[in-house]
Parts: sequence; C-alpha cells; structure tokens
Amino acid sequence: MTVAVALGWAIDLLAVLLLALGLKGLAKVRSARSANGLAALAMGLAVLGLLIQSPLTPVAWLWIAIGTAIGGLAGLFIAQRVPMTAMPETVALFNGCGGMASLLVALGVALFQGVSGLVAAISIVVSVFVGAITFSGSLVAMGKLQGWIGTPGWTQGQVRHGLNIALAVVALVAAIALPVDPAGPSLWLLVTASTLLGIGVTLPIGGADMPVVISLLNSYSGVAAAAAGFVVASPLLIVAGAMVGAAGLILTQVMCTAMNRSLLNVLFGGALGGGGGASVGGGGDEAGYSRITSCSAEECALALESAERVVFVPGYGLAVAQAQHTLRELAKLLEANGTEVSYAIHPVAGRMPGHMNVLLAEADVPYEQLVEMDSINPDFPRTDVVIVLGANDVVNPDAKTDSSSPLYGMPVLEVDRARQVFVVKRSLGAGYAGIRNGLFELPQTAMVFGDAKAVLQGLVGELRDLGVGKARAAA
Ligand code: NDP
Repeated sequence: MTVAVALGWAIDLLAVLLLALGLKGLAKVRSARSANGLAALAMGLAVLGLLIQSPLTPVAWLWIAIGTAIGGLAGLFIAQRVPMTAMPETVALFNGCGGMASLLVALGVALFQGVSGLVAAISIVVSVFVGAITFSGSLVAMGKLQGWIGTPGWTQGQVRHGLNIALAVVALVAAIALPVDPAGPSLWLLVTASTLLGIGVTLPIGGADMPVVISLLNSYSGVAAAAAGFVVASPLLIVAGAMVGAAGLILTQVMCTAMNRSLLNVLFGGALGGGGGASVGGGGDEAGYSRITSCSAEECALALESAERVVFVPGYGLAVAQAQHTLRELAKLLEANGTEVSYAIHPVAGRMPGHMNVLLAEADVPYEQLVEMDSINPDFPRTDVVIVLGANDVVNPDAKTDSSSPLYGMPVLEVDRARQVFVVKRSLGAGYAGIRNGLFELPQTAMVFGDAKAVLQGLVGELRDLGVGKARAAA
C-alpha cells in the first residue's frame, strides 16, 4: 500500500465518522446548523481522500477543477437565492442531481471500462435503475411542488399500472441482458425504461402525499449512491449512500404514519387531495361556504387579552408571509400578560418535514413551547384561543368526520375542540390539497382575513394599545 493510498483511506474514515456525527446532529434543532457544517466538511474530505488515492493526469485535474467550480458556484448561487418556502423544490432538485450523478458514474464505467463479474453487473444495474428513477422522479416532484406540472386525469386510472408494469418488465429484461453487452442497446434500454418509470410512478402522486414522495426519493438517491459506491469500489460512497438511504426510509415511514397512509397506498393509490386528475399544489375554490364569520384584528386582540391559554398553529402561509418574528413578538406580549403560550406542530405542516420547527427556531421560539400533534390534541378542549396562521389542510376537521374527503384518515390538529378559533389567511382559498375546510364554518371559528404578517402586526399594535405587557412590567 502506498503512502497516498493509506492517507486517502485515513481521510475516508474520518469523513465517514464526521458524516455520521453530522447526521446525528441534524436530529436536533439546536445542533442542526453545526451538524450541517460537519456533514459538508465530511463531503469535502471525501473528495480530497479520493483525489489523493487516484493517479490523475493533468487533463483529468483540469476537468475536476472545472466541474468543482461550476457545481460549487451553482450550489452557492442556489443556496443564497432560494427562499425558505421553496426549500422542498430545492431538496427535490438536489435528490435528482444525486440520482443523476450515480447514473452517470455507472454509465461511465459500463461504457469505458466494461463489466467484469456478477457483483459489478448487479451494481451497475442497480445504480442505473435507481439513479434514473430518482433523477426523473425528482424532476417531476419538483415540477409538481413548483406548480408547473399537474396530475393528468389518465394517471388516476388503471392504465398507469399497466404502463408502469410494462416499463418495469422492459427494465428487467434489459438488466438481464446487460452483462452480455454492457455498452450495447440493453444499457440504453435500461436507462430509458428506468427514466420513464420514474416519471410514471411520480406523476400520479399529488396533493397531501407529496411529503412522502420527497422523502422516498431522498432515500432512493442514497441507495443509488451506495450502488455507485460498489461500481467504483468506494467504501465511503457505500457507507454514505447507505446512511442516506436508511435515514430517508425512516423519514418516509414517519411521514406515512403522520398521514395515516401506507407506503403502498401512496405509491399505487393515486393523488390524495385534488384527486380525480385535478391539478394540485394550491387552489382557490372559495365557493361552497355559507356560514362564514369574520372579524377584525381588534376583536381578535380582545379575545387574546383575556385568554389564559393560547395555542398558535403555524402553517405554510406563515412561512410565505415570513411572519415568524412578529409572531414571536406577539407571543412575548401575551406571556408578559400571564398567558400560557404554545405552538402546535403538525408533522406535514408547511412544505417540508420539520418546516415549522425550522421557521420558529429562526425567531428563537423556545423549543419547549413547540408541541407535537399527538401531545397537544388532548389539550385543545382546555384552550381558550387558537390562532391558526396560514395553516389549512392540517386543521381540516373533515379529515376526521367526512369519509368522502380526500384527507379522510389523515390525523389533524383538533383545533375545532378549542373554545375559540381565529383563522388568519388572505381569503377562503384552499390549501395544498385543494379542498374546502369545514373548520371555517364552525360557530366557534372567526376568520381574520389578511396577510399573516400584517394581521400579526395589527394584533401586536392592538394589544399594546390595550396596555398588554405594560401592566405586568409596571406591576
Ligand atoms: P396549506 O397548504 O394547507 O394551507 C396554507 C394556507 O396558507 C393557504 O390556505 C393560504 O390561504 C394561506 N396563505 C398563503 N399565503 C399566506 C399569507 N401570506 N398570509 C396568510 N395566509 C397565507 O398549509 P398547511 O401547512 O396547513 O398544510 C401543508 C400541506 O402541504 C399539506 O397538505 C401537506 O401534505 C402538504 N405538503 C407538505 C409537505 C411537507 O413535507 N411538510 C411537502 C409537500 C406538501 P390564502 O391563499 O387564502 O391566504
């Protein structure tokens, strides 16, 4: 073993350890930021370890430098520009890039080095198959989240199952033929069938099921990377890919439990919400409401002033309005008034797993005040005032009572059991699942129409005018 190879292995080992520590740290809000830095350092070391071990020509170095510069600048550009609300699309895009990278690695080896042995053949097949599905599936998921792609009606019928099965059979035949002629038509058949299969599987899924799809694709990108690790004999890539694959799978399971859906149901059941071919990703159906009560920020402030226990329910709209800091200001005023304040966190609120936790952490909301759905639901009957801030699907009581609702069976925050509910949103428009919300018409509900930030600023102003906060400070 040469010194360079030994050094490369030592660096690889360090990178694996740092990556594992980074993944562990991501589980807690407080350590997430530094853990992300640790994982990024691990990736940098991994590249360094590989470069040290590889005898490279000057031309190869040049290509690597060009690739690193382009990729690094693109990453920097995207990271600085992407707003928090567009993070799920970005995650989907990055998953797709991971899948594409694994696909290209396997293609490169199959085309230019050939396939020798059963393990190499299986690794290349898995890397191409899963990599291509991840790539095309992630691009479709990104398009859906962005609202560029809808859910075509034909994808909700049985025909899609026939098409997907046909594509899977073609991919299987190509995979079996691949070792005979690695650089021949079977390779391209495998790439084409897998890419189309990624589209065919992701296109029918929509509405409230999208979080499950994103985490599943994340897991696939890990599996593809692990397979690519076998292709190029990189233990580091195998370990890192396996960790991402396993973490993604666990997250997928958590998401399925949160939505009360089985994975098979998500993958083969069609669009949940906005189904029947309707386009998903928002919707503005304001028709069909007949008993709506609305009120001003002033009336809402009066109810808050006298409440002993207040629960805020953050949703996607709070992130859109970037009103987390104003919300924190309001909560501090109420706490100074002696009010017990907490925040109800639904696992799929917002547009990415943990979205609300991250959003509220930005405004330094104490972590102890964030209460998960299962813990807070029993407390709603003893809650005086619930303020729903830009949340919709996650508080829809029809999910519990209306078996015809596309959300039926999904656990929701049971805010309808509280004494008084104020829903802050700009209109009676639908949420992500594109359906109406029975909460808006309940007698204990009042709508406070407006942008979440503007309404919260109004509430802060009203409470200050009422002397809330000052009284305690003086006393
Ligand atoms: P919803 O998408 O159900 O509702 C958000 C509401 O916010 C809308 O009804 C909108 O109403 C309102 N809103 C938008 N902008 C503003 C604003 N500036 N001020 C005030 N209100 C605003 O959000 P939820 O968080 O309740 O539910 C999340 C949904 O997204 C679920 O269906 C979930 O399955 C899905 N999803 C979740 C992902 C995840 O990983 N968490 C990923 C992908 C999808 P109006 O226009 O009237 O203001």
